[in-house]
Amino acid sequence: MKKFLLVPLLIPLAGLGTLYSTFTAQTLPVPAGYAVKLPEATPPPELTLSAIRAGKMFNQAAFAYRGGSFGETRVFGMGAILVRHPHGALLFDSGFGRNVEAHFRTTPWLMQATSKYETEATVADQLKAAGIDASMLKGVILTHAHWDHVSGLEDLPGTPVLVNAAEREFIEAGGPPTALARGLGALNFQIYQFESGPYLGFDQSHDVFGDGSVVLVPAPGHTPGSIIAFISTPDGQRYALVGDLVWQREGVDLPAEKPFISRRMVDWDEGKVRDLVVRMHQLQKAVPGLIVVPAHDRRVWDALPQLSP
Ligand SMILES: [Zn+2]
Repeated sequence: MKKFLLVPLLIPLAGLGTLYSTFTAQTLPVPAGYAVKLPEATPPPELTLSAIRAGKMFNQAAFAYRGGSFGETRVFGMGAILVRHPHGALLFDSGFGRNVEAHFRTTPWLMQATSKYETEATVADQLKAAGIDASMLKGVILTHAHWDHVSGLEDLPGTPVLVNAAEREFIEAGGPPTALARGLGALNFQIYQFESGPYLGFDQSHDVFGDGSVVLVPAPGHTPGSIIAFISTPDGQRYALVGDLVWQREGVDLPAEKPFISRRMVDWDEGKVRDLVVRMHQLQKAVPGLIVVPAHDRRVWDALPQLSP
């Protein structure tokens, strides 16, 4: 008789155990034999890359990657990366905009209940303070179209928003993850193609300026049209902007995926994300000095060149 009473008790306990176990440290297996040829890049001497930090959220490291601590709070930075090139200035993502309070209210209740955010000067205001005319931007390239990457677009009216067809369809298809991207009104979307051939082991790419300085590759996983942007600066430095493929750099360093609850909340295809995390881990090892920039790792952003007023 007793064992029948135990069963209903054990089921939720087992569930809790399974849930908890997804937070325990577990690195992803990395196959041996990875080789890649670093493509040429001829960035013009005037090219610069600058971080524009624009907003913060706070979360425990445990929610960012498997093995992260519940006792350690991490700053999840928001912001934009500005690339100034003689043929035009680009932003990657847009940080928290002036109306972030209203934008935050478009997110799932669970996020609103468990998250806190803080504002910093908006990307538009920081561009203005640095004497950069936002209306002259070539465009804002979205690593993907989630709310925390599009919030600042509202402050850059008319600026082209450069997306690939898969992300545009993801926005149009509806659903909560892109509610804000649809709700911001008439954005000036421009679609780019991946016409530039293979790049660093990726099958397709889009070489924005044709000189290898800014190359986008499709990286579907976090969202269907997520990208990774490879940027080469004249000092020989190489950067990989990986968006939300990982939330903190340990994701690529270890490599380790997000815990189950985070994957379920934010990743469109966790299997594709897992494969890409391993691939970026291999790439980071194969390309000495490559700086992998997760969109939300404020420690990495603090070490980047900053836009100065
Ligand atoms: Zn994000």
